[in-house]
Amino acid sequence: MTIQYLSLKDITALHFEEYQQAIAKVMARGWYLQGEETKAFENEYADYCHARHCIGVANGLDALTLMLRASMELGYMHEGDEVIVPANTYIATILAITENHLTPVLVEPDINTFQIDASKIEEALTQRTRAIMLVNLYGYQSYSQHIGELCRERELLLFVDNAQGHGLPLPECTAVAHSFYPGKNLGAFGDAGAVTTNDDALAETVRTLANYGSSRKYVFDYQGRNSRIDETNAAILRIKLQYLDNDNKRRREIAKRYCNEITNTAITLPRYDHEAVYHIFPILTSQRDQLQEYLKENNIGTVIHYPIPPHKQKAYKEWNNLEFPITERIHACELSLPLNQAMTNEEVAYVINVINNWR
Ligand SMILES: *Cc1c(COP(=O)(O)O)cnc(C)c1O
Repeated sequence: MTIQYLSLKDITALHFEEYQQAIAKVMARGWYLQGEETKAFENEYADYCHARHCIGVANGLDALTLMLRASMELGYMHEGDEVIVPANTYIATILAITENHLTPVLVEPDINTFQIDASKIEEALTQRTRAIMLVNLYGYQSYSQHIGELCRERELLLFVDNAQGHGLPLPECTAVAHSFYPGKNLGAFGDAGAVTTNDDALAETVRTLANYGSSRKYVFDYQGRNSRIDETNAAILRIKLQYLDNDNKRRREIAKRYCNEITNTAITLPRYDHEAVYHIFPILTSQRDQLQEYLKENNIGTVIHYPIPPHKQKAYKEWNNLEFPITERIHACELSLPLNQAMTNEEVAYVINVINNWR
């Protein structure tokens, strides 16, 4: 048996003909940008997220960058303001903050949940703190009531990077950024992303910024950019959205089996959470590289999310001597097992069996 970490071909094969028909429909219409598919997807995804607005953009990084930029254009935040962000996030979250000349303040995660440690947010607050950026990493909920109360007490903006969390309940917050990168739970056939928000002004500003800064044809209010979902991808995402809850249900089923049936004591399993959407199934082991090699020899693909934390990257040289021991431990010990809706029960059983036979 051979199990790739993720076969997009197998995932696409689940609804191949529906996708073909949707693409053919867009071709027959001959309208490729800002058309009825995009509009319909935006409405359907806003409903799905229980948000008033959804603005389709070109990718997840743009969604993050534009929701922050719009907040600044509206005067909610200013250059140099501090944004609290988990130290173990994917670098895109932090790129969006620094690109807007805001200051990321890295906070350690909880080793048991991989999510930002709410109890450590308080000690990171300063006079300049203006916002908290949560990241629903691996498909777990990062919001807690404690964080909500902190935001209200200190009048902080709350943003969510939901690139890995499609299907999670979303908190009342300023705005949420979504990525539809092909490998995500809701993935396009290429790049796409979206911002959802209940704030009318913020929604309009994101839309304007993503359209060259123009709210009316040939009138430019901002130095904007071009960032949009194309019609074919919007059509694909509309189909995939209909299957998302079922796909997530299947992901939870597999996660539950991994949690119950992997008994190898050299491995630390993540906590099973019936609300999580398991974009990634992260395990920890001190002999991560050996385990990865062993699984490879047994034809099981795995990925490390992520090998080097943002503060150790060359891109952020100024942070290279900072220490975030929990983050660093996760980066040294994490291994992601294959988990997606195209996996069969036999494949899941094979992964469990091979892992239990390790050493
Ligand atoms: C994928 C991802 C992004 C970036 O999304 P793109 O669509 O690839 O730009 C941002 N944040 C997190 C946590 C991600 O996983």
